[in-house]
Amino acid sequence: MKVFQLFPNPETDPGPSVASMDDAKRIIGRLNEAQQVAASETEGPVLIIAGPGSGKTRTLTHRVAYIIASAKAYPSEILALTFTNKAAREMRSRIEEIVGPHADRIWMGTFHAIFARLLRVEGHHLGYDRNFSIYDVDDGQRMIKQIMQSRGMDTRQYTPRSIQFMISNAKNRRVGPLELQRIAAGPHQTLAAEIFPIYERQLAAANALDFDDLLLKPLVLFEQFPAVLETYRDRWKYIHIDEYQDTNKAQYALARALAGAHSNICVVGDDAQSIYAFRGADISNILSFQKDYPSANVLRLEQNYRSTQRILRVAEAIIRGNEDQLKKSLWTENGEGEPVRLMEALSEKDEAQRVERIIRDQSLRYGLNLNQIAVLYRTNAQSRSFEDALRRGGIAYRVVGGVSFYQRREIKDALSYLRLLVNPADEASLRRIVNVPTRGIGDKSLDQLSAFARDRGLNLFEALGRAAESGVSGRAVRAMISLHSELESHAFKAQTGDGAEVAKALLSAVGYLEMLRAEDTQESLTRWDNLQELISAIAEFTQAAEGGTLSDFLQEVSLLTDADQVDAGTPAVTLMSIHASKGLEFASVFVTGLEEGLFPLAQATNDRKELEEERRLFYVATTRAERFLLLSYARSRFRYGESQYSARSRFVDELGSGLITKEGGGDFKAKADRFRIGTSPERGTYADEGYDWKKPVASAPKKPASSGRHVVYDDDPEGWTVGCLVNHPHFGVGRIKRLDGTGRDARAVVDFREVGTKKLVLRFAGLERVDLDG
Ligand code: ATP
Ligand code: MG
Repeated sequence: MKVFQLFPNPETDPGPSVASMDDAKRIIGRLNEAQQVAASETEGPVLIIAGPGSGKTRTLTHRVAYIIASAKAYPSEILALTFTNKAAREMRSRIEEIVGPHADRIWMGTFHAIFARLLRVEGHHLGYDRNFSIYDVDDGQRMIKQIMQSRGMDTRQYTPRSIQFMISNAKNRRVGPLELQRIAAGPHQTLAAEIFPIYERQLAAANALDFDDLLLKPLVLFEQFPAVLETYRDRWKYIHIDEYQDTNKAQYALARALAGAHSNICVVGDDAQSIYAFRGADISNILSFQKDYPSANVLRLEQNYRSTQRILRVAEAIIRGNEDQLKKSLWTENGEGEPVRLMEALSEKDEAQRVERIIRDQSLRYGLNLNQIAVLYRTNAQSRSFEDALRRGGIAYRVVGGVSFYQRREIKDALSYLRLLVNPADEASLRRIVNVPTRGIGDKSLDQLSAFARDRGLNLFEALGRAAESGVSGRAVRAMISLHSELESHAFKAQTGDGAEVAKALLSAVGYLEMLRAEDTQESLTRWDNLQELISAIAEFTQAAEGGTLSDFLQEVSLLTDADQVDAGTPAVTLMSIHASKGLEFASVFVTGLEEGLFPLAQATNDRKELEEERRLFYVATTRAERFLLLSYARSRFRYGESQYSARSRFVDELGSGLITKEGGGDFKAKADRFRIGTSPERGTYADEGYDWKKPVASAPKKPASSGRHVVYDDDPEGWTVGCLVNHPHFGVGRIKRLDGTGRDARAVVDFREVGTKKLVLRFAGLERVDLDG
C-alpha cells in the first residue's frame, strides 16, 4: 500500500525552465503527426475528440512536457485534470521522464484532489479551517442516519442512502435546501428536503466537506470572491482535462471559470466512452465545447495503437448500435491478432473456473504477466466467483473497488481518531469512535451529551471535555473526560511531532491496539497488522513529502479512488468493474456476465438513453484489450438468492457472425495439454522481456512435439536443483539460486523476473517446476 504525493508546491517552484527547444522537439517526435499537431497547438481552446487507444492521454502528457520544455510556462503554471489519481501519477512519471524532477510542480490530479488543495488554502474565505475533514459516502450516510434517528424518523421506509442520493443530486444541480423544499414532489423528496439543511449545517459545524462540496464550494468561492478567481486564472496559464466526456456540471463550470480570458484550455475525450451519466456526468459538455469556445481548434486522432484489428472490429460493431454518437474512424497498423472468443458457461461458477483455466493457459503459454490480465464485470458482486476460482487455482488476484484498505473498519476507526487530532469539530468521526473500544458510552449518554452541546453552543468534542456538567452519569462521564484528554494531548503532539509516532501512541493510549490484542483471533491479528501498515504509510508519506503533515496525509487517503488500487506491486490478475477500467489497458481482457438483465442491467432496457450508456460500457470494456479479448456469459446465475436461468445479452447478438469465435460447450482444452508451452523457437523463453505485444500475433502454437517445454508439478522436495526454472503462483517465473536444508525444511532462494529474489520454504511455496525436455 502506498500513498503518493499529488500536489506540487508552487512556492518552491524552480526558476526558468531547464529544458530546451531541442528537448521540446524530441518530445514531440515521440508522437504521430496528428498527435504532434494536437500537442503543439498550445494557444487557445483545443478539443481533441478521438476513439479509444488513439493516444489521447499520451498526447496530453506530451503536450504538458512540450509546454515546459519550450519555456512557455513554468511547471506550476500548468493544470492537468485527470479522472483518477492513478492517471495523474502515471502522467507525472511520464512527464518526469521527459522533463525531470520539476514535473512535481505541475498541478496534476483529479478534480477532487486539486480543488481540495485549493480549498485548504482559500477555504477560510468561506469559513473553513484549513484542516477540514473530507466525508466519504459512508460518513455522509452515517450522519444522515443519525439526523433521522435523533428526530424519530423511520430509516427503513426511506433509507439514509436514498436521502443522501437525493441531496447529492440537488447539490450537483446547484439546487439549495430552500429551493428543494419548494420543488419537492412526494413524501420521499419532501423528507430529503427537510433533512438537507440540517445535513449542511452539521457538515459546516464539523468543519467538514463532502465529495460534492469539493467541487461546489470552489465555485461559490469564485463567485463571491472574484479576486481569488483572478489569482488562479493568473496562476494556471494552461489547462488540460482528460476524459472530458465524463465531467459533470460543476467540473464544467470550474473549467470554464478558470480558462477565463486566456482560454488556453485543451480537453480530450470520446463521447462513445461516456459512462458516468448516473453520477451526473453530462455528455453535452463535450458536444457543446465548440459553442462555448467558437474559436476552438477541433482535432481528431484516428490511429489506434492499443488493440488488434479483430478487437477493433468488434468494438466498432458494438458502438454502431448507438444512434447518439459522433462519427469517428479508427484504424490500426497492428496485426489481425487472435480471434475474439465467446464463451458460454453453465453457471457463474463454471464461468469463473473456465476463466481461471484460460488465465493459467495464457500466462504459461504466452508468458503473460498476471498484471497484464483483467477480468471485467458490470456489477461488483460478480467478483466473488472469480475470487473463489482464482484462489483455488493459486493465481494471485487483486479486486479493485471492493473493500479497499482504507475502507476497512479498523482503518476507518484509526483515521477517525486521527482526523479528530487535526479537526476536533469533526462530529462524524467522534461519533464513530466514541465507544470503540467499548468504554461504557452508550447511545443514551451520547444523546444526553449531544443535547448538552446544543444548549451550550459547544461542538461535541468540547462537550466531551465538560461531560461532568452534562448530567451524564457515572462511568460514562469518566470515560468521556479521559477520551477528551487523550485526544487533546495527542493533538498537541501532532502539531509538532512525528505523525506516525503520534498515531501509534494515540491508538495505544485509547486502548485500540490493546482491544485487538486481547481479542486474539486470526481476524483481530489481521486488523492489528493493518494498523501497523497504516502507521508505516503515514511515516512513508511524511518522510517523502517535504513537510507533509498528518493533515495532508488524511486528505490524500480521503481522495483515493477505486482505480488507485490497480497499483501493480506483485503480479496479480485485476478484477474490476468496467467503470473502474476506464483509460486503462491490458494485454488480455475478459468481459464477463454478458446476460440480459445483468449487462445490460434490467432497469436500462426500457430506456433508449440508458441502453446506449450500457452499450458504451461494453465498448469501453472491449477496448481495454490489447491482444486477447474473451466475452462470456452463463446460462444460469445465482441472483437474488436463487439460481436463475439467464439469456445471452443482446449485445452479443448484435455483433452478428464472423467477428467472434464461439467456444465449444465442453472443456475448452484437454487437461494434459493445458500446461504445454509453445515451442516457437523465436519466442525463446517465458515472458520474453521486450516481447512486443503490439506485433501481429504469431499463429497459435501447434501441438507440442516431444521437445516442447512443459510444466511439471513437483511433489518431491528432494527433486529440486539449483538453476531449475520454476513458476510461483504470485511471483511468476524465476530460477532457483540456492537450496538450503533438506526434507521438510528445505528452503530455496529464487530469483524471480518480476519481483527479484525471495526466500521460500519449498513445502509451502507452491512452486511448479518448468522443465525443458530433450
Ligand atoms: P482511452 O480512450 O482508452 O483513454 P487514449 O486515447 O487515451 O485511450 P492512450 O492510453 O493515450 O490512448 O494510448 C493507448 C496506447 O497506445 C498506449 O499504450 C500508448 O502509449 C500507445 N500510443 C499512443 N500513441 C502512440 C504513438 N504515437 N506511438 C507509440 N505508441 C503510442
Ligand atoms: Mg486515455
